[in-house]
Amino acid sequence: MRTFVYTSRPSRVVFGSGTVGRLREEVERLGRSRVLLLSSPPLAEASARVREALGDLVAAEFDGAVMHTPVEVTEQALAVLREASVDCLVAVGGGSTTGLSKALALRTDLPQVILPTTYAGSEVTPVLGETRDGRKVTQSSDAILPETVVYDIDFTSTLPVGMSLTSGVNAMAHAVEALYSADANPVTDQQALDAISRIARALPRLAADPGDPGARADLLHAAWLAGTCLATVGMGLHHKLCHTLGGTFDLPHAETHTVVLPYAMAYNAPAAPDAMRRIAEALGTADAPSGVHDLITSLGGPTSLRGLGMPESGLARAAELAAATPYPNPREVTAEGVAALLSDAWAGRRPI
Ligand code: NAD
Repeated sequence: MRTFVYTSRPSRVVFGSGTVGRLREEVERLGRSRVLLLSSPPLAEASARVREALGDLVAAEFDGAVMHTPVEVTEQALAVLREASVDCLVAVGGGSTTGLSKALALRTDLPQVILPTTYAGSEVTPVLGETRDGRKVTQSSDAILPETVVYDIDFTSTLPVGMSLTSGVNAMAHAVEALYSADANPVTDQQALDAISRIARALPRLAADPGDPGARADLLHAAWLAGTCLATVGMGLHHKLCHTLGGTFDLPHAETHTVVLPYAMAYNAPAAPDAMRRIAEALGTADAPSGVHDLITSLGGPTSLRGLGMPESGLARAAELAAATPYPNPREVTAEGVAALLSDAWAGRRPI
């Protein structure tokens, strides 16, 4: 018998193709009529489709979302929001745009409807990481969790194969760490294994045919499941390490997750044999860490921190930071252990 605690989070999910057409009724369902539409310049076309779907519900727009949710950008958006007497937030974009929406919801308690265009999974979590004076601080609260998510696979078709791979592995990392989390439970386990298996099957299909709608659907479905894992149970060494590397060395989010995941898994493997066996089974490989590494390599993804621009001189500092505060992880996190992990990840050696 297994003893566990499970807390579900209230979030309404609409999933499919062409679901952008449901946005208007989703906003009205929340009893709202004055939308602030959030986006970023690279997603101007996607934002135009959302604007068209919302019609006269759009009261104002802000297209300045950037990575890591700097508070100065949130304050600019807040001014637009107040000027237009907005009563609902609609965001179209990846984790960065969702982050801006969450930062605004935290300050105003306005409801959020998110249309995600990557596989980061932030849209189903109550977590927000904000950057103030160059420091990223993470907090969690019910006010941050978006009310409604409209997943429309059509909006992911423009995500290039390389970014789909790194974003897909970002999602896989949530699922992997959920399986050996101290809070692991049977519900999250099933979601995590389903997510890993969908991602492992979809990525090679997408590389062969970037327009494959079935592969896109599997990846977006997996992003939802993996994001739900991230929202429900605590993450371990991999997420702490990526947070440190991203925050201290300004490394790109999804790419850093992609490089670090096989090494964090190899570090934890001796202390989490059952989770690794189940992950390998979901991947369809004999071994979990090298299976993830080989999947990334076979699709031409990033495999070394050196390749992401991480200076070798920063490895010792990163290891110290990652081991400075204790947190639940299957294997004890020591500065020496993390230094060895980072040395392998920096060079891109295949984990064994
Ligand atoms: P992102 O939102 O910054 O997007 C990356 C790039 O891809 C951007 O240039 C964007 O314009 C472009 N892009 C997005 N969707 C596209 C599409 N469909 N077609 C073409 N281009 C597209 O990156 P991300 O990886 O989605 O999110 C990263 C951010 O989200 C980080 O700040 C991270 O900390 C945060 N995050 C938070 C949580 C959470 O639960 N709080 C979870 C995951 C990520």
